[in-house]
Amino acid sequence: MAASAGPALDVAYPFRVLYCGNCTLPIEYCEYHPEHDKCKQWLEKNLPVEFEKLCKAADISTDEAGEEKKRQKRGGKGIVKARKKDDGPKQVCLSRAPRGKKKSVTVVTGLNSFNIDLKVASKFFGTKFACGSSVTGDDEIVIQGDVKDELFDIIPEKWPEIDEDFIEDLGDLKR
Ligand SMILES: [Zn+2]
Repeated sequence: MAASAGPALDVAYPFRVLYCGNCTLPIEYCEYHPEHDKCKQWLEKNLPVEFEKLCKAADISTDEAGEEKKRQKRGGKGIVKARKKDDGPKQVCLSRAPRGKKKSVTVVTGLNSFNIDLKVASKFFGTKFACGSSVTGDDEIVIQGDVKDELFDIIPEKWPEIDEDFIEDLGDLKR
């Protein structure tokens, strides 16, 4: 009867060890053999049932490894995102531009990169130098007068986060 023969096949013979025809190790240890690919070929051909079992076991461990990698990747992305907040060059640029025949103005750019309110900064410069000062662009303040040299001292004094090293002298602009 097929019914009685079935279960007997499922129970593995207790002391039966299957050896690999390629590396001669018990098939459970095949995966540690350097020529495991050849072992798999041999197993697939000669012990297809055992081969399938080994493959299933391998698949499960591969899935677990894959899941672990995904978790690490997500964590990694989070760290990158957190760091990105401070991206972008931080620099204040000062330059002098001619105005009229004899006078010049001082152009200040880059205060935005230090999250400084340009209107507040412009008003501060105007008061400090007793001259006209206005916001002239997204990140540009023009001070009426040649005050570039003074700004190298005054800006770090007013905003300690802007070290003098962060201030670039662009020299004279020709308009
Ligand atoms: Zn083998």
